[in-house]
Amino acid sequence: MTDIKAMIAEEKNKLSSIRQSLHKIPEPGFKEIKTSEFIAAELEAIPELDVTTGIAQTGIIALLKTGRPGKTLLIRADMDALPIAEETGLAFASTHDHMMHACGHDGNMAMALIAARILTRLKDRFSGNIKFMFQPAEEGPGGAKPMIEAGILESPHVDYSIACHLWPGLPVGTLGLKSGVFMAATAIFEIEITGKGGHGAMPHLCVDALDTAGQVVNALQRVVSRKLNPLIPSLITIGSFHSGAAHNAIPEKAVLTGTTRTYDKKIWEAYPAIMEPIIKGVCDSMGASYQFKYTHGYPPLENDPGMVDIMKKSMLRVVPQERIMEPESTMGGEDMAYVFEKSKGCYFFLGSGFDGCAPLHNSKFDFDESLLLTGAETFVRFALDLLG
Ligand SMILES: [Zn+2]
Ligand SMILES: [Zn+2]
Repeated sequence: MTDIKAMIAEEKNKLSSIRQSLHKIPEPGFKEIKTSEFIAAELEAIPELDVTTGIAQTGIIALLKTGRPGKTLLIRADMDALPIAEETGLAFASTHDHMMHACGHDGNMAMALIAARILTRLKDRFSGNIKFMFQPAEEGPGGAKPMIEAGILESPHVDYSIACHLWPGLPVGTLGLKSGVFMAATAIFEIEITGKGGHGAMPHLCVDALDTAGQVVNALQRVVSRKLNPLIPSLITIGSFHSGAAHNAIPEKAVLTGTTRTYDKKIWEAYPAIMEPIIKGVCDSMGASYQFKYTHGYPPLENDPGMVDIMKKSMLRVVPQERIMEPESTMGGEDMAYVFEKSKGCYFFLGSGFDGCAPLHNSKFDFDESLLLTGAETFVRFALDLLG
């Protein structure tokens, strides 16, 4: 019997070199050119893999066939970075101006690549197929949906899917997962309010767009507290408010932007129809007009209970029971949700939190690379438990 822990441990230097190489070349969504080339070269070096590049611009699928009939598991990693100037001081820090792997996608990719290397060597120990998915633009506008539209979930049909994300909210080396909704459905909106500008000392001759927008900000907070079921986590955040230029002028325009989140797909769909009458009511009462643009983001990400049960058993082969946690769900979003809508999915966290560590999307975000061995081993164990 091959010792999987030993195989994983032997990959330590390779894993570190992959992660550091990717960390140096962070790229924005759908522009992961060098990243995609690097990953493709790593995958193409494994002759058993059937590699397709350029899916939804920079996405990649590597197919591992065992030649024996069975189900197909998809293992996914996200490839994009963020427009943040890195301040970690690391020797392998970003070489791209104002771009950084501040969400740990360099680590997510490294784990999936190591899993691809090891599962290829273990392919006599399971049936069916594994697809390794490297997707662009997780941070937005989302690469999973266009990759699905390009057909990645067929030929062969994907039955199951898994993904892992580094998570500083959990202690170092722990694994976190839970059944049911794990991440929220997302959307963004913009409200442009138009009034009538004029002298700050003559409000009776004006329609104050800034004051109207202020009332809209407050009124929209009634959506969650008064219009939605309090048992379902939901929120509205107004993230920007732009209006006015002079201390003594009443502004004609005000622009608000924000995001909505919810665990419920029906609320996700209904949000704009609930918000608009409130915006209209406030604007009508003040004599202002408005334009409301609402764009749906990702649906809720839901873990399949059966997959979670198998994953918990697989995790026990990787770490002791006390290092498997059930984290709080998050109001963050994930476009892996689209893949989970079409296959049985399980998303889990790899805890990377230590005292004083920086959060995700922070210019000082970093993690202990040896943790990635735990994530890669979890992918391998789960694939063997599911398809073995
Ligand atoms: Zn992120
Ligand atoms: Zn991320």
